[in-house]
Amino acid sequence: MRDVIIIGSGPAGFTAAIYAARANLKPLLIASSVEVGGELMQTTEVENFPGFPEGIMGPDLMDRMQKQAEKFGTEVVYDDVTALDITGEAKRVTTGEGQTFEARSLIYATGSAYRKLGCDRETELSGRGISWCATCDGAFFRNRHVAVVGGGDSAMEEATFLSRFASKVTVIHRRDALRASAAMVERAENDPKIDFRWNSTVVGFEGDQKVTGMILRDTVTGADSQMPIDGVFEAIGSDPRTHLVHGLLDLTEAGTIAVDGRSSRTSVPGVFAAGDVIDPIYKQAATAAGSGVVAALDAQAYLAELDDAATAQIGEADQPDEIERTGEVGNSQDAGDVETANATATQLDPADAAAAHV
Ligand SMILES: Cc1cc2nc3c(=O)[nH]c(=O)nc-3n(C[C@H](O)[C@H](O)[C@H](O)COP(=O)(O)OP(=O)(O)OC[C@H]3O[C@@H](n4cnc5c(N)ncnc54)[C@H](O)[C@@H]3O)c2cc1C
Repeated sequence: MRDVIIIGSGPAGFTAAIYAARANLKPLLIASSVEVGGELMQTTEVENFPGFPEGIMGPDLMDRMQKQAEKFGTEVVYDDVTALDITGEAKRVTTGEGQTFEARSLIYATGSAYRKLGCDRETELSGRGISWCATCDGAFFRNRHVAVVGGGDSAMEEATFLSRFASKVTVIHRRDALRASAAMVERAENDPKIDFRWNSTVVGFEGDQKVTGMILRDTVTGADSQMPIDGVFEAIGSDPRTHLVHGLLDLTEAGTIAVDGRSSRTSVPGVFAAGDVIDPIYKQAATAAGSGVVAALDAQAYLAELDDAATAQIGEADQPDEIERTGEVGNSQDAGDVETANATATQLDPADAAAAHV
């Protein structure tokens, strides 16, 4: 049986793989059949991932992460996980092509999907003026007119953040009132760079290599109109990819996988989760990568605990034989030492166990 299987090939999955592979755990990473590399494959330049002062194209960054993971011994399978059995000590993973893999631990790093408008030319122009992340892409729109689509808290947060760079931010909302909290609405309404286009939905985008405009439909009259724009930020929510673990792992109110404190430990021992699938707030490549580190170290600690417990059991089983063979029944010193060692092994702090294993 393998030590660890990682599901997901975004920054969280590949970073977990780098750490697990360097710890000699020979991870198997199931990367998906269609979206190898995760969300950064959909973008052009990434300017905020540490270590690349000139920026790096999203697909190039992911290619480097994969190469680094493979260099240390990660095995990559290009398929989707379609079923999981995580109730026993062996975690069983089945893929779309019907292969089954087993490991003593599992790292779940399937990310989350930003909701899309689903309108004309959106896919073609995504990463070319259409974005889902103001923190990531806001700085590209200095002194430009941008639109934010949505009416909730995250839309207001994006609009307020973007007004630092943009010359003008237009919030497009399908109703005539916002869903966002009063404080967020007040902040946006008081910002002189932000204006609102009410009762409007986006039905299409315009532009050749990048977005230059959009077609809006009035939800009251049904009339279409054109709006020139330099960039569009869609802020209509995101869905953590958790469908495979519904009923198996505890989830949070936000729909992300619940983990224990700052760790990656889920509600099932031996199953760890990392990246955007546990993160309802930050959702950045660097935070996902950091979260992958945590998951790999937690998995190492868990495996070390299993190994220590198994060694302790063998020690216990050996003990009577030893006494019988040597006849040293009265040597209480040795028996005491074994007991102490067992107690230490089973009570080992996970962090110490990880350190011992690295
Ligand atoms: C257009 C765009 C631009 C962005 N730009 C930036 C940026 O400039 N800077 C930044 O820091 N962040 C940026 N982000 C956010 C960043 O991409 C994410 O925060 C990050 O990729 C999350 O990493 P992750 O590993 O958790 O998940 P993901 O990157 O989403 O990777 C998850 C992977 O798991 C796979 N998977 C899911 N289900 C299964 C399954 N059942 N079987 C096998 N595989 C599965 C998916 O196919 C995917 O490959 C951007 C996001 C988008 C959409």
